[in-house]
Amino acid sequence: MSNITFYVPEIKNAGAYVDDRGHYAGGYGWRGDRSLSNIRKIIVHHTVTNPTGNARKDVDYVYQIHHGSRGWGGIGYHFLITSEEKNGFAIVHEVGDIGSIRAHAINAKGLFGLPKDAGNVYFLGISIVGRFDQGAMPTKAQLRSLHYLIKELVEKEDARLPNLKSWSDVIGHKDVDYTACPGDWTKMKPLIQNFTEKAPDPVYVITQESTQLYKGTDQAKATDVYNKATTPGTTVKMTKDGKEVKSKTIPAIKYEIRFEEHSGNTGTILWTGTNETNAKKTFETATGDGAKAGIYRLMKDDKEIDKREVFIEPVNVVQYAVELNGELKSVTAGETEEQAKTRYANLKKDAQKGLHGENALVTLISANQTVDKYGNSKQWMDLIDYYSKSYDDTIQKIEANYDEVMSNPLVRLALSISKLLKKK
Ligand SMILES: [Zn+2]
Repeated sequence: MSNITFYVPEIKNAGAYVDDRGHYAGGYGWRGDRSLSNIRKIIVHHTVTNPTGNARKDVDYVYQIHHGSRGWGGIGYHFLITSEEKNGFAIVHEVGDIGSIRAHAINAKGLFGLPKDAGNVYFLGISIVGRFDQGAMPTKAQLRSLHYLIKELVEKEDARLPNLKSWSDVIGHKDVDYTACPGDWTKMKPLIQNFTEKAPDPVYVITQESTQLYKGTDQAKATDVYNKATTPGTTVKMTKDGKEVKSKTIPAIKYEIRFEEHSGNTGTILWTGTNETNAKKTFETATGDGAKAGIYRLMKDDKEIDKREVFIEPVNVVQYAVELNGELKSVTAGETEEQAKTRYANLKKDAQKGLHGENALVTLISANQTVDKYGNSKQWMDLIDYYSKSYDDTIQKIEANYDEVMSNPLVRLALSISKLLKKK
């Protein structure tokens, strides 16, 4: 019985190397010993059993077939690459002493100048749990264990295994016998031989706030995406394998709506924000109906991008308003048109009787449609007619001499009414 101590440091250090020679019958041999110098080739097999994910069960299953069903003295291979992983390695069971003759490849083809059908004396058998004759390949963990195991045998054990010289001494079962075992060996062998522990390429992720702009391994592309992300008011981050490597914060654009009176009094800031759409919308509202007279400026980062002037103070366009001499006399919320007209008619009668003074003017104002006026002075009526007809010209005149024009309450009222007329 041969009892040769052999192990693979990388696999043993990972806790994935099991010396199983004493666990099953025939682990130290049942067909006799051989000199290690007899070993000329490593033969790779597949077990054609279903991987269980449990190393012990995988080996039990093979033992049951070889020992139980076929009646052999033990498991026919030297090593089994199981389907259970530990620390990245498939757990390797040494099921047969390497100095023992086993039962895995008879060399039916009589190759390598070796006697026909005497393969088991010269070959070392490694079998991968699974079946690979339908195109599948061993798992990454299995490839890793195969790589280190075979490397140990052909590269490091020179003294003890003088006739295993290189990877060219590693062959598939089908190379020496009439079998499909272990599947596509031409494809499988380079995967085992060239297995490397090269770390995967780092993954770069570019995010802008909660939006992912890029994820991939192309560092140049990642950097480009990072550099081109310039949306104001956001923070852009680059991570490499989950760790942040750089970040930048792009300052937000500041929008302001500023207001100043025509008199040139100190301006005030009506609104600030960072959203252009909101800024423009707010500017429209601020300068629209009901806006206080003055100059409105829309600023973007302290630069003026829009400017509007409102010249005429708003008329109280609250449903039905009745004005007397330019002064709001009464507004009744919810008042019907009929009720407003009655009040207007009563005021008008009083004005005609002279109860509101020599130059009384009574107006009925509706935001929607009705504007009526009565003045018992021709001067008033002419003024209103004038401004109604030449509204745009008037705006320019006011612009040129605002304070003087607007200080005249008659002109202001006339403008208010003409503005309403124009709207119609
Ligand atoms: Zn085989």
